[in-house]
Amino acid sequence: MNTIISVKNLVKNYGGFNAVKGISFEVYEGEIFGLLGPNGAGKSTTLEIIETLREKTSGEVIVCGMSLDKEPDNIKKVIGVQLQTSGYYPGLTLVELIKLFGGLYNEEVDPAALLKLVNLTDKAKNKFKELSGGQKQRFSIATTLINKPKIIFLDEPTTGLDPQARRNLWDLIRNIRSQGTTVIITTHYMDEAEQLCDRIAIMDEGKIISLDSPDKMIDDLVSTGFERPKQVKAASLEDVFIHLTGKEMRDE
Ligand code: ADP
Repeated sequence: MNTIISVKNLVKNYGGFNAVKGISFEVYEGEIFGLLGPNGAGKSTTLEIIETLREKTSGEVIVCGMSLDKEPDNIKKVIGVQLQTSGYYPGLTLVELIKLFGGLYNEEVDPAALLKLVNLTDKAKNKFKELSGGQKQRFSIATTLINKPKIIFLDEPTTGLDPQARRNLWDLIRNIRSQGTTVIITTHYMDEAEQLCDRIAIMDEGKIISLDSPDKMIDDLVSTGFERPKQVKAASLEDVFIHLTGKEMRDE
């Protein structure tokens, strides 16, 4: 297992407030790594520091063998970060937007290939504002891939999407990983983390309180004698929803 991100004793203070309290963790090359935790836990602060978008107070961060302190510009070249959708010029088509972002990264891009990867070939000539929620998220993920990064960061990529669109996005993320890209994802959906992530770190109040595979975490809890308060049925309401409305995408 090769380590692609190493974080040691990372601290972030906002004035007198200690938001990240000396956390350490590693992300392995080729995995889908989830960062979970309640609002205010320090997830965004941690990720934005790794993404070179925020100053740390202290600690060591190494990305692809490069020190954050010494080579932030080279780190920027090997990571893909979702841009704020407000930065998507409303009058431009998806192809034009990809060309524009490619120019910003000084990178030759093939818009058609990128749109095919995220299943948006039919929308190439559409404007961003004309896309459905799921399509917007897929396009936003496509923009993280423009500079052919080794690592992409996805911040709650499925929030607000319907169950079919969420599943479609999981397939897309798995597909990106299968092409060798390491994926770091935040989510508040535990089913998503369980399905998608190879390992997860759970953060609370600026600390990592657990880090393991979802499976191992669940087994550890069960081994303490924990049982769900009521008998779990063989299907969930989400299963009913998918069964009734079908698995295929609706937002095309
Ligand atoms: P999460 O992403 O887990 O919701 P954040 O990293 O956004 O957590 O925030 C962690 C804590 O740091 C919160 O208490 C938040 O209010 C605080 N915080 C975040 N950004 C700032 C800032 N720019 N200035 C002051 N406090 C901040």
